[in-house]
Amino acid sequence: MDPIQDLFKEKGLKPTVNRIAVFTAMLTVPDGRSAVEPLFQALSRSGVHISMSMLYVTLRKLSDHGLLGCERDGGPSGERVTYSLPSAACGFPLRVVCRNCRKESHLNDERLKKALYRASEASGLKLTDQPITVSVSCEACAELGRRRRY
Ligand SMILES: [Zn+2]
Repeated sequence: MDPIQDLFKEKGLKPTVNRIAVFTAMLTVPDGRSAVEPLFQALSRSGVHISMSMLYVTLRKLSDHGLLGCERDGGPSGERVTYSLPSAACGFPLRVVCRNCRKESHLNDERLKKALYRASEASGLKLTDQPITVSVSCEACAELGRRRRY
């Protein structure tokens, strides 16, 4: 079973190609939050062709059915809408953190989640639904380290 299809079914929303594409893109944006413009750009970059007006309609539909949260900010330059994943869909933040500068990014990927669960279980370790933190050295810090060594 596809977890995203399940989620749509649970919320009573027909999983159309556009809705799945937009929701999947939301799973990849940092912190599961995005305004419409950057999401539109992320979709185009990943080869999803959807018009801006269709994206607005799709986001509103997802938000109406509780698949996305929606925050409105009335700034001086007009209203800005930020969409975000509900906490249930954010249940699996994989945090990648630089151990030096503490810069971090978040991944929300169902396939990655399943793969991690399977791999851990195979080695006798059952994971709970806790966030997982991966400690790394970011490129900038690694470069700094290399320069110090020489
Ligand atoms: Zn760093």
